[in-house]
Amino acid sequence: MTAQIIDGKAFAGDLRAKVAAMVPAFRAKAGRAPGLAVVLVGEDPASQVYVRNKHKMTIEAGMESFEHRLPADTSQDALIALVHQLNADPSVDGILVQLPLPRQIDESAVLAAIDPDKDVDGFHVVNVGRLSTGMAGYVPCTPLGCVMLLKDRLGDLSGKDAVVIGRSNIVGKPMAQLLLAENCTVTVAHSRTANLPEVVRRADIVVAAVGRPEMVKGDWIKPGAIVIDVGINRVPGAGPGKTKLVGDVDFAEAVEVAGAITPVPGGVGPMTIAVLLRNTLVAAHRLAGVPYEK
Ligand code: NDP
Repeated sequence: MTAQIIDGKAFAGDLRAKVAAMVPAFRAKAGRAPGLAVVLVGEDPASQVYVRNKHKMTIEAGMESFEHRLPADTSQDALIALVHQLNADPSVDGILVQLPLPRQIDESAVLAAIDPDKDVDGFHVVNVGRLSTGMAGYVPCTPLGCVMLLKDRLGDLSGKDAVVIGRSNIVGKPMAQLLLAENCTVTVAHSRTANLPEVVRRADIVVAAVGRPEMVKGDWIKPGAIVIDVGINRVPGAGPGKTKLVGDVDFAEAVEVAGAITPVPGGVGPMTIAVLLRNTLVAAHRLAGVPYEK
């Protein structure tokens, strides 16, 4: 059996198109476009690529993009002052501070300064609390994108055995909360989990968010399981100096066993920005008092 390939790139493209299609009606009602502010501190090359793509796709969706690029030696106070300014700016609906931040800045202090109602990344403790107590808030983009792909494939997730490998605040923990909210029976595995292959073998749904290239092997997967690979790992490619991207799952092996699987690249990765735009549109509606109709 060969797994179906879950085309996250196409799904994300559709989601961005849906968001873009809703922007004109919002503009007509609110008298302005939804606005997303992205703050980049320093010159981390990967972050620069992400910020560039976010800007491009925000504009393509018909929204306002406010980019703030600050030097690597920016102080924590200066960054927090900018966040306060964006909190107060009525043309800004969503605020995203690109992580990681330079060493002199305490990430948690900066995230705590963002108005939770503009926290479209869903990292503020208020939104973490809202997610875990079932209140409306903002959910981190990557795990929300994973749930959208799962529901598109499976419909109702009730009663499924789900194993999430990884317990980071950005992916693993919110992923587990979202699956719990979908009535899955959730196991969260991590670096201290005993007998990980055995634990994964129970799962109808496997979400790998580890950051270790091709760690999850084909014989860890229950036949027919749905595999969502969040990992993005750059490894040596064919030929000198060449590199390629691989996930946390050994795709060549897992594709022979799973019922469906996300590829890397082209699976979960493209979902993140699409969900960010969706979260920004939702924030704009809430802040402007315009009902959001999906
Ligand atoms: P973190 O490094 O923050 O977390 C990794 C998690 O994996 C930790 O909980 C760690 O356990 C666990 N882990 C590490 N080694 C093992 C092991 N041998 N067995 C079991 N568990 C292990 O990473 P992130 O959550 O931020 O990211 C995970 C991956 O997802 C990365 O490849 C990242 O690039 C990718 N990513 C992709 C995104 C996208 O598609 N847009 C967005 C965000 C991330 P412990 O807690 O015990 O240390």
